[in-house]
Amino acid sequence: MSVCEDMLLCNYRKCRVKLSGYAWVTACSHIFCDQHGSGEFSRSPAVCPACNSALSGKLDIVRTELSPSEEHKAMVLAGLRPETVLDISSRALSFWTYQVHQEHLYQEYTYSKAEGHLKQIEKVYTQQLQSKDMELTSMKSEVSSMKKMLEEYKKNFSELSEKLMERNRQYQKLQGLYDSLRLRNIAMANQEAAHEPPMLPQPAVFGFPLVMLPSSLGMPRRSGAGVGRETSTSNPSLPHPHLRMNPATASSPSPLPAMSWSHILEPAGPTR
Ligand SMILES: [Zn+2]
Ligand SMILES: [Zn+2]
Repeated sequence: MSVCEDMLLCNYRKCRVKLSGYAWVTACSHIFCDQHGSGEFSRSPAVCPACNSALSGKLDIVRTELSPSEEHKAMVLAGLRPETVLDISSRALSFWTYQVHQEHLYQEYTYSKAEGHLKQIEKVYTQQLQSKDMELTSMKSEVSSMKKMLEEYKKNFSELSEKLMERNRQYQKLQGLYDSLRLRNIAMANQEAAHEPPMLPQPAVFGFPLVMLPSSLGMPRRSGAGVGRETSTSNPSLPHPHLRMNPATASSPSPLPAMSWSHILEPAGPTR
């Protein structure tokens, strides 16, 4: 109720509009705006929408002009006895006082309701705050433990990287040593090769080079390993000037022993 603004509000629960122009006043001391009054009181029997009082009397519902004209004010109470005028004024003032009181009660009720709601919300928020505080505390401790772990990992990492660098240094050192040794070996091999005459591979029997034998016996000279092969796989039917030669009686200038001769000149010998 905006008492300071000197205006009453529509008593319809969902309306509460500031009244002006025409208003509907009831014998149960309620007042409604023109819209709700005309709507509610057109039905029969009329019932007050604020307190459910039956309004069946002829003057139980009155449509009043809230700002009457000067002419109306001049005439409405004219001719009435002073006590009647005062009685009417007193009843009208009582109506006003009741409306202000009702509005005051309504505001108090609304306030207490809002206060209770606020307290409820405060309680919920306090609980949420406490739980969030606890969560925060546990998260802080988690963060600090994580930081500790991170520090440990960092320490381990630096130690391991130092070890790795040390191993790398050792590896480089060993690689350098290996390279120098290899180069030295190659140089030594080259030196040895330069000082010694080149050795040609020669087939040999009993330690004597085969190429020497035919020439010492007057045999036709053949090249390379073919001689040795011929010796072991030669066809016995082929005429050979030395096949009939008796090694024991052969007068040869060769210093080779007789056994060696017969063995080498054996035509049907197994293939070696
Ligand atoms: Zn209304
Ligand atoms: Zn009423």
